[in-house]
Amino acid sequence: VIEMGQPEHSVITTCAYCGVGCSFKAEMKGDKVVRMVPYKGGQANQSHSCVKGRFAFGYATHKDRIVDPMIRDDIHQPWRKVSWQDAIEFSAKKLRATQETYGKQSIGGITSSRCTNEETYLVQKLIRAAFGNNNTDTCARVCHSPTGYGLKSTLGESAGTQTFDSVKHSDCILVIGANPTDAHPVFGSMLRKRLRQGAKLIVADPRKIDLLNTPHVTGAIHLPLRPGTNVALVNAIAHTIMQEDLQDQHFIDARCDDAAFKKWQAFILEDNNSPEAMEPITGVPAADIRRAAREYAKAGNGAIYYGLGVTEHSQGSTMVMGIANLALATGNIGREGVGVNPLRGQNNVQGSCDMGSFPHELPGYQHVSDHIARGHFEKVWNVKLDHEPGLRIPNMFDAAIAGKFKGMYVQGEDIAQSDPNTHHVEKALKSLDCLIVQDIFLNETAKFAHVLLPDSTFLEKNGTFTNAERRINRVRKVMPALGGKEDWQVTVDLANALGYPMSYSHPSEIMDEIASLTPSFTGVSYQKLEEQGSIQWPCNAQHPNGTPTMHEVDFPIGKGNFAITQYLATEEKTSRRFPLLLTTGRILSQYNVGAQTRRTDNQTWHDEDQLELHPSDAELRGIKQGDWLGITSRAGHTVLRACINERMQPGVVYTTFHHPHSGANVITTDNSDWATNCPEYKVTAVQLEKVSQP
Ligand code: SF4
Repeated sequence: VIEMGQPEHSVITTCAYCGVGCSFKAEMKGDKVVRMVPYKGGQANQSHSCVKGRFAFGYATHKDRIVDPMIRDDIHQPWRKVSWQDAIEFSAKKLRATQETYGKQSIGGITSSRCTNEETYLVQKLIRAAFGNNNTDTCARVCHSPTGYGLKSTLGESAGTQTFDSVKHSDCILVIGANPTDAHPVFGSMLRKRLRQGAKLIVADPRKIDLLNTPHVTGAIHLPLRPGTNVALVNAIAHTIMQEDLQDQHFIDARCDDAAFKKWQAFILEDNNSPEAMEPITGVPAADIRRAAREYAKAGNGAIYYGLGVTEHSQGSTMVMGIANLALATGNIGREGVGVNPLRGQNNVQGSCDMGSFPHELPGYQHVSDHIARGHFEKVWNVKLDHEPGLRIPNMFDAAIAGKFKGMYVQGEDIAQSDPNTHHVEKALKSLDCLIVQDIFLNETAKFAHVLLPDSTFLEKNGTFTNAERRINRVRKVMPALGGKEDWQVTVDLANALGYPMSYSHPSEIMDEIASLTPSFTGVSYQKLEEQGSIQWPCNAQHPNGTPTMHEVDFPIGKGNFAITQYLATEEKTSRRFPLLLTTGRILSQYNVGAQTRRTDNQTWHDEDQLELHPSDAELRGIKQGDWLGITSRAGHTVLRACINERMQPGVVYTTFHHPHSGANVITTDNSDWATNCPEYKVTAVQLEKVSQP
């Protein structure tokens, strides 16, 4: 404030980092943000924020911002700056030529969980209506796609059940595969507050996360399971609940499908699901599993919060269903203080999925093969739509390498750095005839692009984000778009250049169209958002002001559906050559691949990714604190500095992925979730060796 002067006015908007969706007051001097202050009226954050959000405005005006459209005929040529009109016409011509040569299905696009709902909706509309296929996918593919599948199969809706505030009423909090104090700091603080008030804590995680060190909290149970054994653990907890008659039979009888329950009951009570049978698989003592099961089942209100440590596995969807089974069996659904709560990593993962980014679903999770739903879209969009699901991101890469997929539009996502098995991704991107990248910085993906279009940051546009509690928050423009256009305007221009007419004068009109086509959004409008501050969907005739707690009376599928969750070991196994298991996560001051946080004033807190390992693993290999280590997996090799600590258990190592040098995705494998293809980032067998400084 001292350097930049006193603010003259302020604008309320929403943080564009994690799925908490904190509201901020951007204090301005002219077109410049002087500082970001957590907004007292913010319904998700209640006047709190974390260090990332406070400094977020720094990257918006960073010197590395792409502000001019650029094109080139092939990826070995230098970029040529061109006008927006030339860039759009060049893109449309290349996309059309690709389809003429290779067919309608040869192109597609990827939407971003960082973009607004309105932008995301328009990109999938562009692909379905102007490209004429369903080859649309989202970066949620690589994080929470199993949440969508698992929760829809069991509870009937692809979303978490509670408000964040609901944790105030929890008596027992089960955190699985998540590190809220680093990855969702404002919610992490709410959790800590409730723990200090006496709620019980159970953490299922290979690492001893900071939540376990909450001051004045005693008796927490840590289940330090071996990476890749989540389903074994959740089945063992459920087995204990049923074997010891701890279930809520009244809830099961009243709210759940009887046949599904009976089938599940017989399955879960099999001896091979017992804690004793699962102890050698999970590495967690059976007595601790039983203690945790009793604690959760006997609590008045038991709440489950989970993160990517659940979803990014070959059994990610199975594990989400296993978590829902626990909540159904104990009646922990449909009121405050309970529920199943995915902690979404990115600001708009929920919205990106809601807006129809997936290749099999139109907005509102309406399947493309549903001819009644498709008919509504065909009428409003004035176009015939494809009824076959399109390609998922990994299918796009495989088809590109096979020479069948040749063109891609990527908005706001660095797939070359974010997706697993980097060598495979780069090979796919190199084989494209037309790659259009729209981003705020020259990212790794843009190195393979033919068109580079400036993206706008959250400070440069109007729209909405939907956070992890289904809360639709307004994003308000506080400064002009540095590239001259907001993202939704670029998509509109591209659609028109391709011959599919699109016309909107403001994102509020896009939201009106979304509301007219999406059953859970029919009551949503910018006017209502102004009146209420935010809205939690479903918001429709049954819930005119939105829905803080889901499934209070019934489920969208009628009865709760128990799912059979057979544990199957991942194909990624340790061996003499690769004796350690690597898992990954985030730290407080950085966000994802760090493209934004590394360009803000908080970046100096963490200037490199390191490899964390247990002292016994270090001693065995003669590794000292700070040594450089070569890390080799079956997929690749990278080099990181050693950080020896007791947060890790022997045999498991850990790294973050916030810096390009980390190479975390160079060494992760091609394994993925059986239902959704979400990559198995959390289990990679590796070997370590000391190396000289790279
Ligand atoms: Fe809030 Fe998450 Fe932004 Fe931090 S990063 S201010 S917790 S939304």
